[in-house]
Amino acid sequence: MEIVHYNDPVLRRKGEKITSYGSELASLAQGMVETMNRAQGIGLAAQQVGHPVQVCVVDLRSTEAEFDWKLDGTKTPLDLFMPMVIVNPKLTVARKTPAEVLEEGCLSFPEIRGNVERALSVTAKYNDQHGLPHVLECTGLFARCILHEADHLNGVLFIDRMTKPVRSEIDEAVKALAKRTRAAKAAAP
Ligand SMILES: [Zn+2]
Repeated sequence: MEIVHYNDPVLRRKGEKITSYGSELASLAQGMVETMNRAQGIGLAAQQVGHPVQVCVVDLRSTEAEFDWKLDGTKTPLDLFMPMVIVNPKLTVARKTPAEVLEEGCLSFPEIRGNVERALSVTAKYNDQHGLPHVLECTGLFARCILHEADHLNGVLFIDRMTKPVRSEIDEAVKALAKRTRAAKAAAP
């Protein structure tokens, strides 16, 4: 699968809910995991491979960052559930949850990075690729990654979350990327 770059319109589409947990979803999820791994990313949303549906994949095993989690109430070892396939997520950020500003990147914005403020912890209710419901509570980079991917599923991009000064610093690079994406689309058969 090819990763879609800004400003392909599919990145702005809200994902449709998944209603059937069959081979179509399994092959989408498998393709997304392979694409994420190849790009050395920690998360990828279906919009980023051209499918506006409520599916994202996450794998944080290669990061050094500190984070904590509970999957269905237990600190299940990461190797037992990553790469994870997250379907139809519903996120909740508890009131008064502290936020943190950190530099973020996105596979749809190659070489563009910028500071984004995100909540330090989040709870996600979601289904796995077999349709089984789960509750994930996570903090730190895990929470940031889940928040970033869930934004994609709603057509929201990390540049939308930047403060004006941060956004304007990368504006030229963002515009140049949009231009390259348009040109590549026009040249495609
Ligand atoms: Zn992204």
